[in-house]
Amino acid sequence: MEPTICLVTVADCLFCRIVVGEIPATVVAETERTLAFRDIAPKAPTHVLVIPKEHYADVATLAVGDAVLAGEVLATVADVAAAEGLDGTGFRVIFNTGASVGQTVFHAHAHVLGGVDMDGDLT
Ligand code: 5GP
Repeated sequence: MEPTICLVTVADCLFCRIVVGEIPATVVAETERTLAFRDIAPKAPTHVLVIPKEHYADVATLAVGDAVLAGEVLATVADVAAAEGLDGTGFRVIFNTGASVGQTVFHAHAHVLGGVDMDGDLT
């Protein structure tokens, strides 16, 4: 499957616009192909979004389209968790995939959440 490159969708995609700097974000980590920035409406003391810079609609499409890049997103997730001091206490990673489970931005992204006791709460 051919990925949709960011420039094709930048006008329509909020996270593509963050990648190219059209919309400001608080960036906490960046690699050649991934970007991590703080969620604008945090649901935990640490709430960072990690995205591939290239546009994929969701993590399933990303995994099929570029498994190496999917791995790079996970590596950035781990780096962010360590930088935020969460590697000892634990953290949660969520990829909402589909509107029915709450995905609102259709550019693949990992939520990295931590800094609070979440117990078994899945939301
Ligand atoms: P989803 O619901 O698609 O899994 O997650 C989208 C996330 O993007 C939400 O947690 C929402 O708060 C966050 N978000 C929406 N608009 C912006 C924005 O303009 N900047 C940042 N940093 N986060 C945003």
